[in-house]
Amino acid sequence: MRARLVAGNWKMHGSLHDNARLLDALKAGLERSDKLTYAVCVPFPYLGQVSAALAGGAIAWGAQDISEHDAGAYTGEVSGAMLKDFGCRFVIVGHSERRGLYAEDDGRVAAKFLAARRVGLTPILCMGETLEQRDRGETQNVVGRQLDAVLAAAGIAALAGAVLAYEPVWAIGTGRNATPQQVQDVHAFIRARLGASDRGLAGNIAILYGGSVKPGNAPELMAMPDVDGGLVGGASLVAKDFIAICAAARR
Ligand code: PEP
Repeated sequence: MRARLVAGNWKMHGSLHDNARLLDALKAGLERSDKLTYAVCVPFPYLGQVSAALAGGAIAWGAQDISEHDAGAYTGEVSGAMLKDFGCRFVIVGHSERRGLYAEDDGRVAAKFLAARRVGLTPILCMGETLEQRDRGETQNVVGRQLDAVLAAAGIAALAGAVLAYEPVWAIGTGRNATPQQVQDVHAFIRARLGASDRGLAGNIAILYGGSVKPGNAPELMAMPDVDGGLVGGASLVAKDFIAICAAARR
């Protein structure tokens, strides 16, 4: 059975006060499961708070970005070793907001993926097309190019144990849903593309879906055969919604 994961992406939301309430509610609502891993990916300043609150419990944690460099004169950047110091297990790499708003190209995303692997963090590699690209029939070209960039830089073996996330840009934070079949088609494409290099790895890797996942649409999305969980933005800030999405993914 493939590993399954639901990860919350808090984005640039939260405060010490609000986080404490959210974490308390998540701890009360999520029991350890051998079928599903839960994680929250939080803003850097809150990693200390989150690690103290979640240590030894059922919920893992991580960051939303990582420097491609290990150390040095890179003002404002945060290294993989620093994330490890705070007990992070996961780091999101190549989120479309990083790609789009901060001009992270495929090469930099691949370098960040490698930086995560160097320190033993599990990267959650995000890939996805814009609406214009989908309308032009370019979804597979775009997602394939994003995946190939990491494969070329890191090699297929580096993807073992990593997590992939298909996140169509047009469905992120928009309330606009990709249909379960649209999601399944892209996930199957990603798995087949990896399978050309390593069938075993392709069969085992977790591929999450992200893009306006809510309690109402999670059961159908999480039931698709190549969907192994979710990367959840807005709904991860509402404890009861995140808990309901986890319940849908725990199959
Ligand atoms: C995300 O931030 O990765 C995301 C999928 O956001 P939302 O669930 O709000 O669309």
